[in-house]
Amino acid sequence: MTEIRISGGAVHDPANDVDGEVRDVCLKDGKVVEDVDPGARRIDARGMVVMAGGVDIHAHIAGPKVNAARKLSPEDRRDDPIERTGVLRSGSGGLVPSTFATGYRYSLLGYTTVVEAAAPPLAARHVLSELRDTPMIDKAFLILMGNNQVLFELIRESGGAVSAQLRDAVAWWLEATGAYGVKLVNPGGVELWKRDNGNVHSLDDEVAGLGVTPRQVLSAIGGAVDELGLPHPVHVHANNLGVPGNADTTLDTMRTLAGRRAHLAHLQFHCYGGKPDGLPRSRAPELIEYLSGHPELTADVGQVMFGPAVTMTADASVSAVLRDLDGGKWINHDTEVETGCGIVPYRYRASNYVHALQWGIGLELFLLGRDPWQVMLSTDHPNGGSFLSYPKLIRLLMDRAFREDQMGRANQRAIRRTALLDGLDREYTLNEIAIITRAGPARRLGLRDKGHLGIGADADVTIYHDRADREEMFATPRYVIKGGEVAVEEGDLRRSDDGVLYSSRAAFDPEVGGVLEPLFGERYTVVFEHYPVRDPALREPARIVEAAAR
Ligand SMILES: [Zn+2]
Repeated sequence: MTEIRISGGAVHDPANDVDGEVRDVCLKDGKVVEDVDPGARRIDARGMVVMAGGVDIHAHIAGPKVNAARKLSPEDRRDDPIERTGVLRSGSGGLVPSTFATGYRYSLLGYTTVVEAAAPPLAARHVLSELRDTPMIDKAFLILMGNNQVLFELIRESGGAVSAQLRDAVAWWLEATGAYGVKLVNPGGVELWKRDNGNVHSLDDEVAGLGVTPRQVLSAIGGAVDELGLPHPVHVHANNLGVPGNADTTLDTMRTLAGRRAHLAHLQFHCYGGKPDGLPRSRAPELIEYLSGHPELTADVGQVMFGPAVTMTADASVSAVLRDLDGGKWINHDTEVETGCGIVPYRYRASNYVHALQWGIGLELFLLGRDPWQVMLSTDHPNGGSFLSYPKLIRLLMDRAFREDQMGRANQRAIRRTALLDGLDREYTLNEIAIITRAGPARRLGLRDKGHLGIGADADVTIYHDRADREEMFATPRYVIKGGEVAVEEGDLRRSDDGVLYSSRAAFDPEVGGVLEPLFGERYTVVFEHYPVRDPALREPARIVEAAAR
């Protein structure tokens, strides 16, 4: 394997308290090491910025909804072909790129680890197949557990408390699918949508006929994940996404989870004041204040970027609302007894009051958050915009003049209803960017070898020209090193890498199979013994992160 000395760069490694110090970083056998042989390849990084590879904690890159989105919008990809080269395979780009193109483009952006944030467990084979086909990045996926009828049965029996059976069931599901973590999406609400296009509106609404409430699902599953000690805490897409006034539900959700570790997905979509049938306003300052006071909670922002997007969510009722607004194409896809899904191509317009407010709320969260370790960068790709817009978002955070120029172009009534005009002059530093794009997500995911450059870390490194235009800087890294080998140089992909799959594992009593099997028999179309993914080509090799029971 190549030995590399990255010499003379300004290193931004906040996990190890390194803030722009000029020092060498040595790589050997896929790891950061103390020193390398004098004959090692030397990369002259003088005048450049050195960070760990980027880590995306919340994106949608694989599985049935992603594939359905590709089919729904062929026009989005028609004009963005990717040619085969001696090293690379062909593909198509657009908002929802093909698998190969997804890996290539993340790598060209300096990202080396990406989490698919919402996979139906029943579709684990599909998700694994696509992730295995996504090169250049290490990856993991979270499975949806917030609307599963079998789990509802266990939660009803426990009265919403964490039971040994629930813990075992959660661990069994991870084992059965190869997933890394647990996602809850609009707990209870998706089941009602599938039944009669209904929804829940508060955490104490009963999910009709099933004897559980969203609050019970949150505390039972969130508690089980916490007590199992999974490397990543429960990842929550709260109820009432996008609904004016949903800030109350979000606060209630945070209070229900508080005291336990939890991650709130795309918080921007959950920070709205106003009446449900009226225009939203921002309650971001209040929510970020609550989050700042609860270090056990973290969030990614889900920033909206003006321009095209594809909304894809397990929260299928949201897609119906968007489709009614937009009048365009729509897919609704139920996954029998465990989740749902909706897809609507979308466009965020700077002149539109709601879109400009959403844009402003995302920025409020970033700029008002006290601890960057709690507030991570995401656009909920491709829901708020493509991951390719991250460099522009970074510029919005780092460059106040640019931000004010962009604010001037957005709907002024909306901007006036945010805190952005209240002298919010914060500019993110390079170390803060390193926190929200790699160190923070890696720590929250429990990926100890990611997101930093300490001895023993994975040799995933991104080297940027230190340019005044931060968008250009972060869009075109000078080098990207993946697993100790140079993957990107001068904007070109130089080699292909399969990337590693991460799964997590927690011990469980195998007797839980005897509990689950009859419940499966009554509900699923899939026979219990056929449900777990056993195919080694899909499951192995994987890096397994063991739970540390609490
Ligand atoms: Zn998402």
